[in-house]
Amino acid sequence: MDCRAALLVGGGAKACAFGCLGLGSCAAACPFDAITMSDRGLPVVDEEQCTGCGVCVQTCPRGIMELIPRTQKVYLGCVSHDKTRAVKAVCDVGCIGCGLCSRPKITPSGAVRMEDNLPVLPPDWSDYETAVEKCPSKVFVVRDAAGLGHG
Ligand code: SF4
Ligand code: SF4
Repeated sequence: MDCRAALLVGGGAKACAFGCLGLGSCAAACPFDAITMSDRGLPVVDEEQCTGCGVCVQTCPRGIMELIPRTQKVYLGCVSHDKTRAVKAVCDVGCIGCGLCSRPKITPSGAVRMEDNLPVLPPDWSDYETAVEKCPSKVFVVRDAAGLGHG
């Protein structure tokens, strides 16, 4: 029951090569008990408890965890760099790298750029609403005033 061990033993049980291994090494490592594993086997961070120490970022063997500013309104709920067909084969909610969110018609500010099949978002992205609505995979997570994420 350790993500690093699972990765060494055949890459873990998830079909997505970028996906969370779900065994909770980040939760076990967090010195502030800020992470719990959900019923779906995914880590949930309590933003009130989190101090931003970064231990979880260093612990996750898949490099999924990332520190973002408390003020960042939107983040991407996927880290897969796979191409469209590979993502669709294993996941309904993964970024398919279509680039729609980076187009001027969708994000007029030009704040979003594509890199290796994933959009790169600025922490202060303000014209996100159309992208959130139009994304075919509904990948974006919008945080409310309390810092909670809602897909
Ligand atoms: S950054 Fe937050 S969630 Fe991650 S280990 Fe530190 S306190 Fe826990
Ligand atoms: S619109 Fe959605 S699926 Fe397409 S690149 Fe942006 S985040 Fe990925």
